[in-house]
Amino acid sequence: MDSRTQQLLAARLQYYRDLGIYDFYRRDVNAPAGQAPPGANECSPARSAGYQAYISETVPSGTAEEEEPVTMPVSTRVATPEDMFAAPKPETGAADPAEALRLIKEDLGECTRCVLARQGRKTIVFGEGNPNAELMFVGEGPGADEDEQGRPFVGRAGQLLNKMIEAMGLKREQVYIANVVKCRPPGNRTPEREEIETCSPFLLRQIAVIRPKAIVALGAVAARCLLGLNEPMARLRGRWFDYRGTRLAVTYHPAFLLRDPRQKKETWKDLQMVMEHLGLKPRRGAE
Ligand code: URA
Repeated sequence: MDSRTQQLLAARLQYYRDLGIYDFYRRDVNAPAGQAPPGANECSPARSAGYQAYISETVPSGTAEEEEPVTMPVSTRVATPEDMFAAPKPETGAADPAEALRLIKEDLGECTRCVLARQGRKTIVFGEGNPNAELMFVGEGPGADEDEQGRPFVGRAGQLLNKMIEAMGLKREQVYIANVVKCRPPGNRTPEREEIETCSPFLLRQIAVIRPKAIVALGAVAARCLLGLNEPMARLRGRWFDYRGTRLAVTYHPAFLLRDPRQKKETWKDLQMVMEHLGLKPRRGAE
């Protein structure tokens, strides 16, 4: 690899690391163009507008021929690809999942990686619950109440989610709850692809340390992010998917159920499927 390519690759890896992305996959050279390998998903940023700005600040321009070896001050040295591929995530080696989550939160910091930071967000909603949870719920993004309190699912949709959790015979504190994006999109709009691509690596890292036995994706946005499938809800719910070796079920988002309560019984079927996998008995009176 020539030194220019090496520099560009190192800069790209550094860019991803600054975004919180540490996992890379190798594309199968025999796969048809545009087809991601199993396990890759829509959350992985393939390209981003911010990268062009970043690279123009990070990598000196010029061709390999005209380049003198560049010695940069230590603090701004562009790491080699070898350094970068070897770079451990901050949570690697954490004593336990609680500590690992704390390190991910610290890495997220007062995030300004996407436009949501400048569009009225008050609080970053990292996620909450049992770091050793067997069950994890993933929603779309914080709403006004969550933005106010810095906690996921505390508004009306959250009250319904609490009821769903209790009907499953669990307490809210026993599960872990997070969202695809951690900042409130203005007016509760659906998060944009770029926002999801920027934020979701932190969610994926949370899932990786919690290692739940089952994930429930609440609504199509969460399902699309985690599975990379752009299917209608009718094709997604009522069955299991594999998310990196963990069972994943998709069901209706509680906010949708508030608008169309007739779908609650379909959701209950999805939750029963999850309960069976987790060996849970419904709370008395829930059936
Ligand atoms: N809707 C979501 O998707 N997430 C929340 O945290 C609240 C409402």
